[in-house]
Amino acid sequence: MKKITIAIDGFSSCGKSTMAKDLAREIGYIYIDSGAMYRAVTLYALENGIFQGEDIDTERLRQEMDRIGISFRLNPETGRPDTYLNGKNVEREIRSMEVSSHVSPIATLDFVRHALVAQQQAMGKDKGIVMDGRDIGTTVFPDAELKVFVTASPEIRAQRRFDELKAKGQEASFDEILENVKQRDYIDQHRATSPLRKADDALLLDNSHLTIDQQKEWLKEQYLRACREAEEKGNDATPENTPAL
Ligand code: C5P
Repeated sequence: MKKITIAIDGFSSCGKSTMAKDLAREIGYIYIDSGAMYRAVTLYALENGIFQGEDIDTERLRQEMDRIGISFRLNPETGRPDTYLNGKNVEREIRSMEVSSHVSPIATLDFVRHALVAQQQAMGKDKGIVMDGRDIGTTVFPDAELKVFVTASPEIRAQRRFDELKAKGQEASFDEILENVKQRDYIDQHRATSPLRKADDALLLDNSHLTIDQQKEWLKEQYLRACREAEEKGNDATPENTPAL
């Protein structure tokens, strides 16, 4: 079957990564969590004194961007990719509340976005990729054959994040998480570069009242449909249908 590009965007903690990861594993595609890349840059900034309180030393971060190496390696125990920052597994650290509450301001910086978008486009150049984030269907892969925009109410998303952190044994307060979810929504939607918005040709999925299995099934159906359409389009590219140059 012809390989396609799948872009999954949406608000924070709405279950994008779960459905994206599971689909990628099932169909043998690469899965990239672009949020993990913004989180890794944020962790680097926090660990290297680039934050002074809430202020970011943008000049230093700009100079040090090419020293921030981000990669993904499959974790054989979970069957999912872990995020590495300069060779160190930081999968747990990047999910902390501290990183969550500093990541959106980092993600507004255009030189950070520029560097990460270029890396994401290079990862997807051969298609066969599922990437989730905020600007995948609008900026990273505007020609993706399948685009999905996922949403759910802030309270439901905060509850999911709370349950996830608790299951991992991490300290969490529901109110603090809800505040963080709302604050990130606002910053993500109002930044100047690549704000979070649904691409015109993206399918909208409100999963507030869907189970994980229901959304997985829905996504699989959309994937099969998008593949059929891509095949049909490919078959249409016969010499008579191909415009003369
Ligand atoms: O997806 P996740 O919630 O882990 O993303 C963390 C943050 O990274 C988001 O709140 C957003 O500010 C930023 N982000 C982004 N563009 C992406 C992915 C994430 O700006 N493509």
